[in-house]
Amino acid sequence: MSAAPATSPSRSRDGTAASLLNDEERARIRAKSAQFAPPPAALPDGRRDLVGLSREELTDIMVEIGEKPFRTKQLWHWIYHQGATDFSRMSSIARPLQEKLAERFVIGRPGVVTEQTSQDSTRKFLFRFRDGQEAETVYIPDRQEDRGAVCISSQVGCTLSCTFCHTGTQALVRNLGAAEIVGQFMAARDSYGEWPSPKGETPRLLSTIVLMGMGEPLYNYDNVAKAMRIIMDGEGIGLSRRRITLSTSGVVPMMDQCGAELGINLAVSLHAVRDDLRDEIVPLNRKYPIREVIAACRRYPAASNARRITFEYIMLRGINDSEADARELVRLISGIPAKVNLIPFNPWPGSSYRPSTREQLDRFAKIVMDAGFASPIRMPRGRDILAACGQLRTESQRLRRAAGQPDAAPEAEDAGT
Ligand code: SAH
Ligand code: SF4
Repeated sequence: MSAAPATSPSRSRDGTAASLLNDEERARIRAKSAQFAPPPAALPDGRRDLVGLSREELTDIMVEIGEKPFRTKQLWHWIYHQGATDFSRMSSIARPLQEKLAERFVIGRPGVVTEQTSQDSTRKFLFRFRDGQEAETVYIPDRQEDRGAVCISSQVGCTLSCTFCHTGTQALVRNLGAAEIVGQFMAARDSYGEWPSPKGETPRLLSTIVLMGMGEPLYNYDNVAKAMRIIMDGEGIGLSRRRITLSTSGVVPMMDQCGAELGINLAVSLHAVRDDLRDEIVPLNRKYPIREVIAACRRYPAASNARRITFEYIMLRGINDSEADARELVRLISGIPAKVNLIPFNPWPGSSYRPSTREQLDRFAKIVMDAGFASPIRMPRGRDILAACGQLRTESQRLRRAAGQPDAAPEAEDAGT
């Protein structure tokens, strides 16, 4: 699949032409994404899962079975505010309708294969979906306060092959559907007994979402966007867009769309400040080079001083961690409301990199901080259960092979076209 070299906005002088080209590029990305669509959210007996449907879809279904559209509001409340998984619990719905719903529908959750809690209280879930594919979700409690972040996966595997990432060693098996993405959060909430959804100031543990698990969320934009809209809906889970952060390795045309449509926080996996190095360690750079990624950050609509863009920077000893790299980093991002998250490399079996030394991390952080950017060092969490960043990887690839399906070609192969 090839894209014309002028598909990136910053290469065109004409704004209109640029946005048309961008539309073309987005259509190409969507078409490719559709090849990895999830299976329908239904049971073998034909019952459909109500989780993951938009309000409009839920209303259409109610009308299809001869019910009034106002049922959507009731069901939405039970599913996403109360966390009900059983129609017989829905006390505001008469028994005959409860039974009718139970004959046709389910309120699903992914199956829990394993649930491990680390010494530092990080909890990792391995979820299995209806077709046997698996993905990992991690709950990371805040060290100081009674709250925490749920790190959600968007794909099984990843088409991108960042050289430091464990997920990147696993070919893309398929995208996760909206039900599976929302389901990870709901199942994590089940595990902490945090239903009904807390409102207002009520303390909640699962208070933020980071789309930083397995996969590239902007290569599964439609399902991710649908899931985030469900999660943000004020009559259900009601998480604000300020509490959701999507991490991307730099899928430039979709960054624009995500900002315009969802307005959630953005994190960008930069990891290198020169194209030659980034081409190597984040191969998507061959398609969307540093200059274009930074330009997309500059125009990201949801960024402000109160809501900074996070630049993620993995610290690889002797590779990208010099003081010159730090100075170039601050030059590149100058003027962007941003913070820099320095991530010590987390080793995984078979990886060849080494984490930077503590001294080098501190030297690097100081240069970034002196330039006016917060530069927290992300301390690895849940290392003992392989739940830390970049350590997630499931056995799903094995399943794909067993099913006789070919592995997906790595995206890097058509990068730079
Ligand atoms: N695909 C998206 C989101 C998932 S990766 C992205 O790349 O942004 C989430 C974060 O984990 C990224 O910043 C990624 O670079 C980081 N990461 C990957 N492998 C890692 C490793 N071995 N050690 C530390 N962080 C890693
Ligand atoms: Fe995919 Fe992100 Fe891992 Fe790169 S770092 S291989 S984009 S999951």
